[in-house]
Amino acid sequence: MENLTNIGKIKDIFNKHGFNFSKALGQNFLINPTVCPKIAEMGNAKEGFGIIEIGTGIGVLTNELAKRADKVVAIEIDDRLMPILKETLAEYDNVKIINDDVMKTDLHKLIENEFSGMEVAVCANLPYYITSPIIMKFLEERLPIKSLTVMVQKEAGQRFCAGLQSRDMGSVTVAINYFSTPKMLFNVSRGSFMPAPNVDSCVVRFDIKDETPLGVTDEKFFFDVVHGAFQQRRKTLCNSISSSLRLNKELVINAIEETNLPLTVRPEQLSMDDFISFAENLKKIVK
Ligand code: SAM
Repeated sequence: MENLTNIGKIKDIFNKHGFNFSKALGQNFLINPTVCPKIAEMGNAKEGFGIIEIGTGIGVLTNELAKRADKVVAIEIDDRLMPILKETLAEYDNVKIINDDVMKTDLHKLIENEFSGMEVAVCANLPYYITSPIIMKFLEERLPIKSLTVMVQKEAGQRFCAGLQSRDMGSVTVAINYFSTPKMLFNVSRGSFMPAPNVDSCVVRFDIKDETPLGVTDEKFFFDVVHGAFQQRRKTLCNSISSSLRLNKELVINAIEETNLPLTVRPEQLSMDDFISFAENLKKIVK
């Protein structure tokens, strides 16, 4: 259906179905007609690809994905949107809507059942209240996907794409760079949404790596160390790790020295190789 970004059309749909926005579900729908085609084109929605969409709203991005990709499977939590989507996506026979919480969806099974013989990519204008958990779920589950192209709050996007050894980075930056190569694509102003949020947004793409960095022998322990390192942001690596992982400071000092890092080093000064060596040295000492 055309015109899903037209405010009059959206109001007509809402009136007909008695729909109103849920703030708790992060419902800020896109009304800028230029954004969805760009997300679809830059997000691998093309022949040979199946697309997973998270959070359809009234189907504005779903339409652009369905025009370009072989198949779209969209996961939307709000059952009030189901009758609306039946109308707005009526012309497509390559779209399937799953009324579920994406955090509870078995994504491996979904890909196996729905996208046989296709490459798979993820595209979404994410609900901002669970941006990082959704991104981490898609990355940590090691899904057979090519890319994850998502609209997020501008500050979050800057942190995701900051690169290691920069001020803006956090534990999620390490995880993103471990599993993927992140790229900032474009900014989207707050006026592009209805209702308008208080912050601007941006679209980022994570191209999934074929191979994750070498040297990690225990991924769970590695990410415990990474999360622990950033739990107290302004502290040194030594203080942060010893308090967040409840480890004797002497043991942490040994691991830092073994990694050839200064004792005053802060987590945001470590490279990926430093994090891996430090976690491996700490593991040898404490496990
Ligand atoms: N794609 C639409 C657009 O661009 O206009 C809607 C985007 S809106 C920012 C986020 C959507 O995600 C809403 O439709 C909301 O109901 C849905 N949503 C929120 N939490 C969800 C969850 N846990 N699982 C699946 N969908 C969710």
